[in-house]
Amino acid sequence: MDNGARIFVAGHKGLVGSAIVRELRARGFTNLILRTRNEVDLTDRTAVNRFFVNEQPEYVFLAAAKVGGILANNKHPVEFLRDNLYIELNVMDAAWKHRVKKLVFLGSSCIYPKFSPQPIKEEHLLTGELEPTNQWYAIAKIAGIKLAQAYRKQHGFKAISLMPTNLYGPGDNFDLQSSHVLPALIRKFHEAKTNGARQVTVWGSGQPRREFLHVDDLADAALYLMETYDDGEIVNVGLGDDVSIAELASKIAAVVGYEGEIVYDASKPDGTPRKLMDVSRLTGLGWVAKVTLDEGLRSTYRWYLENYAETGLRASAPARRS
Ligand code: GDP
Repeated sequence: MDNGARIFVAGHKGLVGSAIVRELRARGFTNLILRTRNEVDLTDRTAVNRFFVNEQPEYVFLAAAKVGGILANNKHPVEFLRDNLYIELNVMDAAWKHRVKKLVFLGSSCIYPKFSPQPIKEEHLLTGELEPTNQWYAIAKIAGIKLAQAYRKQHGFKAISLMPTNLYGPGDNFDLQSSHVLPALIRKFHEAKTNGARQVTVWGSGQPRREFLHVDDLADAALYLMETYDDGEIVNVGLGDDVSIAELASKIAAVVGYEGEIVYDASKPDGTPRKLMDVSRLTGLGWVAKVTLDEGLRSTYRWYLENYAETGLRASAPARRS
């Protein structure tokens, strides 16, 4: 991509899209095409086609998705399945028709089977049953992968698919009902400290293990692979290291400076027991993550304090899946 290339970042208000925009701008790309949902509704095929006719993007990062944590997925299965299918279909089809040079599709680690061998390799896709709590989202993302592979196979369209692990960072969703665990716990511990509460409740048993990648690392990987990778095989993007939810809770309590008790609410679901990515394909391609979980938690808490906690305003729209 040259610095003047016309680059469409779909979902630029979300966690992933906004990180990709920051990274592109930092590297001197000046011709970014960005549209809010009100300007172009990506679930609307006609609107998407009109947008591609008018704007003729050359490169596309497909980071737009209906996303949310374990409860949100369970409560809104229709939106998680339907909206994500529409977005993928409309954007990929228009990108192919309008001769986009390359498209990067962002998937998720929850596409893999619930009891996948760990660490999870790309070839474990479709080898077992999905985790029921997020199967709607997972099926939509699997369809997106297959769509990208189908356009490549039948039409030679250069679409690549990246499967990020659980993401976090600036612009995350801190709403306690719909967010993922990491921003939820930052908020819960911060509010408990501020209000002098003696207990913080963490959902589930604390035993499940998750891998957390800073979204700036994902953006760096997405640009790197846009420029260097051209194959239908999916690529995991992660750190290659995980923690239990209980360990995560202790780390966040320490970063926030909360000294009270941590209790577990067994009535809430645990979800997949473990979700650790095997990142050897990615490291073989020459990329490794740079931000450690400890650094990332500190900087994300600073971001939360500056952008969310003090104003009480809702920060940018959420956009990620685990
Ligand atoms: P998942 O990775 O798809 O399971 O999504 P989440 O990030 O929502 O949840 C990860 C794990 O953290 C699950 O075992 C949750 O039960 C647990 N968890 C603990 N406390 C919370 C919380 O306050 N919010 C969320 N979303 N998950 C929590």
